Amino acid sequence: MSWHVLGAGSLGSLWAVRLSRAGVPVQLILRDEQRLASYRQTGALTLVEQGHASQHVIPAHSIDDDAPIERLLLACKAYDAANAIERVAHRLAPGAEVILLQNGLGSQDEVLERLPGRRCLFASSTEGAFRDGDWRVVFAGQGHTWIGDPADVSPPSWLSNLQRSRIPHTWSPDILARLWRKLALNCAINPLTVLHGCRNGELTGYRQEVAGLCAELTVLLQGCGQADAAENLQDDVWRVIEATAANYSSMYQDVAGGRRTEVSYLLGYACTAGERNELSLPRLHALQQRLFAHLGARGLPRH
Ligand code: NAP
Repeated sequence: MSWHVLGAGSLGSLWAVRLSRAGVPVQLILRDEQRLASYRQTGALTLVEQGHASQHVIPAHSIDDDAPIERLLLACKAYDAANAIERVAHRLAPGAEVILLQNGLGSQDEVLERLPGRRCLFASSTEGAFRDGDWRVVFAGQGHTWIGDPADVSPPSWLSNLQRSRIPHTWSPDILARLWRKLALNCAINPLTVLHGCRNGELTGYRQEVAGLCAELTVLLQGCGQADAAENLQDDVWRVIEATAANYSSMYQDVAGGRRTEVSYLLGYACTAGERNELSLPRLHALQQRLFAHLGARGLPRH
């Protein structure tokens, strides 16, 4: 059974290359005929790992192809997920499964709405990759991927494909708690790095601000039925800040590169969930307003 990877960006390429070199059948789904022509001209994906570049010839098709799909890895950004799934939903074979790699929360529900009755598995990854050219991906940070299904705790048979491909992973019976925890960590760190124009480690200069956000994020998680994800949040935020002190956050990098951020699926999702549950979260709302102003001043969308 072949894997289809929709989105040959950073993470999609990283998955596709590792599956392919382990002999697992995999093909890429590209945005349109133009992107397909560009890929075919290059002829392969390049993976740069520990300074060493390797080429991988992986079959690719445009999103308008009509071949059936049995296992789909959705590897686009959260804000592209709903639109991308609409383009391929009719191609999903009976019993097909979809793995959602998107960071944050909200895009998973948008996809589920469009795929009633289909098994959709959610992933949360700490791996790091970026594109340093067209069809080139740099594996920048070893990490781990948790995979789970809020609707069904039984693990899928294809986890053995990931084992064989050396994609570090764990089956997570409570993937929503993991996604909420990661969202909270992101809300406490990423927007502040954008607003203060700093690396993660420099947030030690803004202890009070970080602590205030952690307190509200704890209220948010508890109020949204995620008490486990709220445990020791502040300690974990400082642990992440120290462990990634030299790094620029993904949101910082997006803004610095003039790219759209995934804010609607991170801080935006947190603020909306707080309103829905009638929670008082003044610091998070103020942070969102400051971030909106910052994005607006740079001509970047607020969503
Ligand atoms: P990315 O490098 O921007 O790649 C996204 C890819 O999706 C691009 O190749 C884009 O195509 C493609 N795409 C978008 N809409 C499409 C469509 N309709 N049809 C076909 N392809 C489409 O993004 P990423 O960094 O891999 O991130 C993907 C998700 O993983 C995000 O939610 C991110 O937060 C999460 N994540 C990323 C990392 C990381 O280190 N990169 C780590 C953890 C989590 P084009 O190339 O044509 O634009």
